[in-house]
Amino acid sequence: MRVGVIGGGQLAWMMAEAARSLSVDLIVQTPEASDPAVAIATQTILAPIDDAAATAQLAAQCDVITFENEFINLEALTHLEKQGTRFCPRLSALAPLLDKYHQRCYLRDIGLPTPEFSTLEAADLLSARWLSYPTVLKVRRHGYDGQGTFILNSQADLEEILAQSAPHPWLVEEFVPFERELAMMAARGATGEIVTYPVVETQQEEQVCRRVLVTSDLAAVEEEVKAIAHTLLTQLDGIGIFGIELFLTREGKVLVNEIAPRTHNSGHYTLDACVTSQFEQHLRAVCGLPLGSPNLQTEAAVMVNLLGYEHSQSEYLEKRQRLSQIPNVHVHWYGKMESRPGRKLGHVTVLMNDKASRSQAIEIAQIIEAIWYGC
Ligand code: ADP
Repeated sequence: MRVGVIGGGQLAWMMAEAARSLSVDLIVQTPEASDPAVAIATQTILAPIDDAAATAQLAAQCDVITFENEFINLEALTHLEKQGTRFCPRLSALAPLLDKYHQRCYLRDIGLPTPEFSTLEAADLLSARWLSYPTVLKVRRHGYDGQGTFILNSQADLEEILAQSAPHPWLVEEFVPFERELAMMAARGATGEIVTYPVVETQQEEQVCRRVLVTSDLAAVEEEVKAIAHTLLTQLDGIGIFGIELFLTREGKVLVNEIAPRTHNSGHYTLDACVTSQFEQHLRAVCGLPLGSPNLQTEAAVMVNLLGYEHSQSEYLEKRQRLSQIPNVHVHWYGKMESRPGRKLGHVTVLMNDKASRSQAIEIAQIIEAIWYGC
């Protein structure tokens, strides 16, 4: 089977092992020859993600096309879908999710809990008397890793952000003083069966995912988050894997923050900690194969992102060697040629036995970060 992937970053790169074991050829559409997945692809079409002519070329060579990110040109792809190109998930499952405001409306309409939200043009934001601080402003499209998300503490913050931005309608939403951030990966197969992975805690710094803790202390909300996943995937009629990011409030309330219709950073731990990784699960769904078990093969785990902290061309061999000496560690290095602050260069997962606690998981994350960031 030949699967086309729109996007050639680390998420597509991490599909390689699963593709090999399922005898799937990956053909990737990505802009740069140095993008990680070029190294593992059977073939690459070097073109921007939203280049529909390139996607038509991709379609001619593949049985089905899937996505590594959602910065796509939906209108142009709809044209291809009408002409017979198979997309997975189907475009109708992506359409409500691409714009953060539309996504919030969709979640509300299918009865899922979200933060309070609205959309406003810049001029209306400045005169909105009901706005209270802190408040959260988000660009509606093309935001990622906190780019385009602003937590504002005053009218002065608002004026500063608006002055730096081109005029467009914003998503404005209540600031949720969450106790923790949670995430769950969930997959739906071609025949409609759904599997869910464990609910995990994610920790962001400067709005970028730093760590994922997989421990058993979230059992109290597991069923509630599972029910959210089932509602969402069924309503979307979505096939493939989906990442669901949530807030847990001090009062124990769960709110959905964001849906990613693809593999997700909060599911990287599944590569080493689960029977079926999120990458294999996605390919299984896309290829119409039965889904695999999402069960943990370990009691607990912690995943830490290796984020760039300087401008350099280094491969950080010495640091990676030190990381690889941690017991039960798996170091993943994406092979990017260039490091810059905040760039995701790799990740580390440590498997933990004997029902490890949240605080033990945090301790291990701190050891990894001390080696990586040198502090
Ligand atoms: P992105 O798509 O860039 O990842 P998110 O909407 O997930 O943007 O926001 C990134 C981070 O910003 C979240 O993980 C969270 O830490 C913080 N954040 C986003 N929305 C809110 C909110 N309404 N209240 C409090 N913090 C928020």
